[in-house]
Amino acid sequence: GPRVRFGPSPTGFLHLGGLRTALYNYIFAKKHQGTFILRVEDTDQNRVVPGAAEGIEDMLDWAGIPPDESPRRGGSFGPYQQSHRLDLYKRASEVLLENGTAYRCFCTPQRLELLKKEALRNQQTPRYDNRCRHLTSKEVAEKLSQGFEWIVRFRLEKGVEPFRDLVYGWSKHEVADVEGDPVILKGDGFPTYHLANVVDDHYMGISHVLRGTEWLTSTSKHLLLYRAFGWDPPQFGHLPLLLNKDGGKLSKRQGDIFLERFAQDGYLPEALLDIITHCGSGFAENQMGRTLEELILQFEIGRITTHSALLDLEKLPEFNRIHLTRQIENEGLRQKLIRDLQLLVESVYGDQHVDKEVLEKNYVERVLLLRKGHISLLKNLVSCDYSYLWVRPSVSREQLQTISAEVDEIGKLVTGLMRRQAAVLTVEELNKDLKSLQKQTRETKYSSVMKLLRLALSGKQHGPSVAEMMVTLGPTEVCERMHKALS
Ligand code: GLU
Repeated sequence: GPRVRFGPSPTGFLHLGGLRTALYNYIFAKKHQGTFILRVEDTDQNRVVPGAAEGIEDMLDWAGIPPDESPRRGGSFGPYQQSHRLDLYKRASEVLLENGTAYRCFCTPQRLELLKKEALRNQQTPRYDNRCRHLTSKEVAEKLSQGFEWIVRFRLEKGVEPFRDLVYGWSKHEVADVEGDPVILKGDGFPTYHLANVVDDHYMGISHVLRGTEWLTSTSKHLLLYRAFGWDPPQFGHLPLLLNKDGGKLSKRQGDIFLERFAQDGYLPEALLDIITHCGSGFAENQMGRTLEELILQFEIGRITTHSALLDLEKLPEFNRIHLTRQIENEGLRQKLIRDLQLLVESVYGDQHVDKEVLEKNYVERVLLLRKGHISLLKNLVSCDYSYLWVRPSVSREQLQTISAEVDEIGKLVTGLMRRQAAVLTVEELNKDLKSLQKQTRETKYSSVMKLLRLALSGKQHGPSVAEMMVTLGPTEVCERMHKALS
């Protein structure tokens, strides 16, 4: 099967753009029984953030798109971190020096800086003037023996061949003369992106390169490198930009596009995968609520268009609601949600007197099944509105009596009603029952009955409807609370 890779630079947290690139690679691999590789591209040591590479792999795991080969998992094409492959790049650059497609450049940083300044002064793009390209082998040998420092540059040939991008179709970018011959090996022994990328894709047996469209114009350079090595290039497919819904860049400012943030806020990874593909292309259908399995089934690379994907994050709660509902309805997935909700309850209400009963699996499961579809995030179930579910109120008989003198009658009627209703009621059914219940009280108005019940059940004066509370609490818990309030 095909071998594809996600090659992030470990300069920070994984963001939605990175997740999307990884996801398309993952989907492509799984669709065609291939292999998905995580390769950490840490050749720019100044920009490396400690822990970032681990964080990115953690987040791929969290998102449910784990790599088959990676720094952590290993594999037979490792190491999977470019900083551990320096020998390979060094040898590769020697091959190019030997066959004449690369050359040693002895220009000092000061000279390069001057060239740059001059270009900027003349309002031109800075460009290396390829001076060392023309050194004779005698001159090179002299400089080497004098101990001059050097880097390796790639001799960019004019006249690149067009290539067929899997997304953008026939493409061709004249790269010679734009910036001058590019550096491929730096003075510190580290390769630059172009060399490392090509060498690794070759030695890791990468068959398809799916990456962001910002690399489309570099591809011609890469193809020239493949040619210089005498290697067959992989196929390339560039993914259109991921932008916010107004067509602007996704902002990293408030950290609101980092996966860690979404995970912390309680979003389901499935909802994220769904929304970042929903706004893009590549799939037969585009309805909300698709699982990863469905995405894989519906994917075809030829369906990716070159239109930018416009992401409307305001829709994320709705995506999450749909996936949450779907997972609650699935017996197996529900078990994890039950545990998650138990933990949430304990962390929010733990220091108040949460009774054992409300943390029991059956009770928590019942709450999930009854409130599914109404909540977009699991944590909404521990919000103030739902505190009645987790904290038994302490209400005194005297408090209730200030609302109505008929507390005992009402208590009896409610417990009677609950006993008759062993099965789960709907809110509508219960509303009817509560109306007729009120008719049996002598002098308490309907609104006062509701007020009294609300207080007895939740200890509060405001919140969800009484019928909703009664349905969600269930008959046993309602009777328990009525009994406690009236004793
Ligand atoms: N390290 C590059 C990046 O962070 C990878 C580009 C590529 O996939 O070739 O975008």
